[in-house]
Amino acid sequence: MSSKICRKCIKRKDANDFGKHRAVCKTCTNKIKKVQNRRYNRTKEGILTRIYGDQKKNSIRRGHPLPTYTKEELGKWIFTQKKFNALFDRWVRCGYKSDAKPSIDRKNDNKPYTLENIRLTTWRDNNLKAYSDHRKGKLKYDQKIAIKFSLTGKYISTYTSYRKAEEDNNIPRKSLSLGVKRGNGVYYGFMWRLICK
Ligand SMILES: [Zn+2]
Repeated sequence: MSSKICRKCIKRKDANDFGKHRAVCKTCTNKIKKVQNRRYNRTKEGILTRIYGDQKKNSIRRGHPLPTYTKEELGKWIFTQKKFNALFDRWVRCGYKSDAKPSIDRKNDNKPYTLENIRLTTWRDNNLKAYSDHRKGKLKYDQKIAIKFSLTGKYISTYTSYRKAEEDNNIPRKSLSLGVKRGNGVYYGFMWRLICK
């Protein structure tokens, strides 16, 4: 059995560990692809590809007709939305946290994806109070927002900074973020959702 040296990891490997006519081994190739994918997923074009793919899958799962627009048409729509660049920049600032990722939801959940029935958002569960505040322009995009729920998940209030939430709930200063993370969303007797940590 023949072997050769991978150009990337410089290890001698069995010929089976290489694709046809490849100088880089399969393990290294997969690693490179993963990095490339992640980089692409974090671009505007990558977001569009992901959203459009998800919409097609969701439509089939729901038994709805496929989106009435092409990927190119959706791109034209999304990239010209007033809020898109602000949402995108905020997502980058938030370290690509999924909560802040620009996404699209339907205004009427019973209707399929059409350009008339979609809107740009960041969270899929857009029934949160914070979301409506966002839409009314009450909150700034780069604020750290803490949303408080009862342990049964009932919405209680939105704080426009972690500090306010800490003061109001007698939580030691600067411990909210870590506490919520450690408690898997539960801290000081409440459920929390923190935006832009
Ligand atoms: Zn290698």
